[in-house]
Amino acid sequence: MSRVYLSPPDVGNEERTLLLEALDSGWVAPLGPHVDMFEADLARRVGVPYAVAMSSGTAALHLALLLVGVGPGDDVLMPTFTFVATANAATYIGARPVLVDCDAETWQLAPDLLAQELQDRARLGTLPRAVMTVDLYGQTADYGRLAPLCEEYGLPLVEDAAEALGATHRGAAAGSFGEAAVFSFNGNKIITTSGGGMLVSRHKELVDRARHLATQAREPEVHYEHVDLGFNYRMSNLLAALGVAQLRGLDRRVQRRRAINQAYRQALASTPGISFMPQAPYGEPNGWLTCILVDPEGFGYSREDIRVALEAQDIEARPTWKPLHLQPLFAQTPVVGGAVAAGIFGQGLCLPSGSSLSDADLHRVVDVVERLAARA
Ligand SMILES: *Cc1c(COP(=O)(O)O)cnc(C)c1O
Repeated sequence: MSRVYLSPPDVGNEERTLLLEALDSGWVAPLGPHVDMFEADLARRVGVPYAVAMSSGTAALHLALLLVGVGPGDDVLMPTFTFVATANAATYIGARPVLVDCDAETWQLAPDLLAQELQDRARLGTLPRAVMTVDLYGQTADYGRLAPLCEEYGLPLVEDAAEALGATHRGAAAGSFGEAAVFSFNGNKIITTSGGGMLVSRHKELVDRARHLATQAREPEVHYEHVDLGFNYRMSNLLAALGVAQLRGLDRRVQRRRAINQAYRQALASTPGISFMPQAPYGEPNGWLTCILVDPEGFGYSREDIRVALEAQDIEARPTWKPLHLQPLFAQTPVVGGAVAAGIFGQGLCLPSGSSLSDADLHRVVDVVERLAARA
């Protein structure tokens, strides 16, 4: 039996064909027709007019924040329950992340806490420069409440949709909210280019600027002329070819991940002490990762016991994100609340959820959990 991974790349013949096509065309690097195609296909899929492919989701977040006007010394409000890249993007600029807790009902940025924080800051004259939302574990944030709040205070919203390609909020695609949104095509995401990202926006000027800055801010001269500080953040044409192929199979991948989520829910429905990440009433998740909470009182063993038991069977599972306010890197960073995210981290476990996971391997995972429960 081979190792079961948490969320491995799911690649097949279409990827092989398009990659070789790009190679044979001579468009190896840096840019080329597959980059244009990937950008156009993804923009169409998300329903936003403009997109620029990047070397990573983190690079795209960095530029998105720069381009909505975040500068050194600015505050950027964002959830504490996320991957470190969300906050790093602000830190690269010399801005300060301000971490806000999540809702227990959605695991997403808590609208009530954000509303209170913005109200307090408006009174003190210390409004942040921007708000970042994260569509965590493939479910969107609560835009019905978060977007009007940003509008009320005139704050740009940047959507970190790195985990959420294919998810929707009231029918609108993840990545269609805010001034700019970002996707990741890292190896563990729902589609992958081995490494890569995309910045999307309905503002043409913002995306044009991002493309310029991501290309070392090279001016249109025959020699190398530079006015702005740029970055080497573009995606190579070979990787974009992978992305075109992966995107064509997005619906199948979303369906498979959702089916995996349903199968886990059914199989573990009556296991005491196990509950699932709640599904928000406002949208459809993409099923990126199936996350459970393990209550040691009810289950008899801890989250870590389950993880170790899975590992002993060569199955990879990971704790849910450690909230950023608990990271040594952000020890000095202000935090609004934080107990909800800390509680989820204490009990949360992500189960193998890749779109290439077989039913047999899924049952191997369930068996380990059930056998442990039977011993309790
Ligand atoms: C993966 C991820 C990123 C970073 O994307 P990379 O392509 O790995 O740089 C950013 N934010 C969140 C929430 C992520 O999960």
